[in-house]
Amino acid sequence: MHCLDRAHDSGFKTKAFVRALDVVRATDPDELARRASAGTLTELEGIGESTAAVIQQALAGGEPAYLAKIEAETVVPITPAGAVYRNALQGDLHMHSRWSDGGATIEAMARTAITLGHRYIVLTDHSPRLTVAHGLSAERLAQQLADVAALNEQLAPFRILTGIEVDILEDGTLDHGDDVLSRLDVVVASVHSKLRMASKEMTERMVRAVANPHVDILGHCTGRLIGKREPSTFDPDYVFAACAQFHTAVEINSRPERLDPPRPLLQMAVDYGCYFAIDSDAHATGQLEWQPHGCDRAAEVGVPLERVINSWPADRLLAWTQGA
Ligand SMILES: [Zn+2]
Ligand SMILES: [Zn+2]
Repeated sequence: MHCLDRAHDSGFKTKAFVRALDVVRATDPDELARRASAGTLTELEGIGESTAAVIQQALAGGEPAYLAKIEAETVVPITPAGAVYRNALQGDLHMHSRWSDGGATIEAMARTAITLGHRYIVLTDHSPRLTVAHGLSAERLAQQLADVAALNEQLAPFRILTGIEVDILEDGTLDHGDDVLSRLDVVVASVHSKLRMASKEMTERMVRAVANPHVDILGHCTGRLIGKREPSTFDPDYVFAACAQFHTAVEINSRPERLDPPRPLLQMAVDYGCYFAIDSDAHATGQLEWQPHGCDRAAEVGVPLERVINSWPADRLLAWTQGA
């Protein structure tokens, strides 16, 4: 599952495995073992030949051959120069859970981040305006914060920092008020609507958001989807000057279909002396392994490593988000 996510395979195989995994979780372990030895796993709804083979091998204690093959085929490559950045990262500041449009629980995301060597993550589910993504109202966000506090007790010294990916509304205001945003550790602000507005209006919209004292990171600034959606147009001189001025980090979004900002804009942001966050924007555990894409990009363009805010320890990051 995890490996298929990182390979960005949203096709049949992933769905089949998700379904199979749900069945496995819902089935009594003794029954699973009985069925495995009797060869009757496929009688369970949602379990086919290949998923049954994987379950059988996993129960036998070995690494299933199919999983080993997937592991080898899906590992995310990185250049030596990019690896310098990846090795320096202590956390990931943009990801989603099942609370909005992610596919995994907060705990699964956190545990995966731990295996990837991270010391902290920021959970940034969507804000209410993004109804298609089940954006979080103030009430649901408050419930989420309680869940995160409980998880943090279990997972310490690892830390789940609180956050949100808040929508930048058309006039540059944000999709939650000061009362909500001021309670969060890290705020990522992103444009998800009216991506085609005229350059002058988009520039004003983005500058206003970037200047908001609650906003710490400008998410996927052009909104492009490679091969599918052109980047938004705005005046990058104003936007990056504002990011530098108001201490809002420019996100280097590592999703393969985004890789946002494109190289020339990233170069401009470097020249303006901006801060950066190299984020996965993961919507599934396997996607947490996408940071190498952003790290390669950062290395290519020569982003100063000391300006990458998720290469800092959590306490330094928090002092910066709260004081900047
Ligand atoms: Zn987004
Ligand atoms: Zn996101």
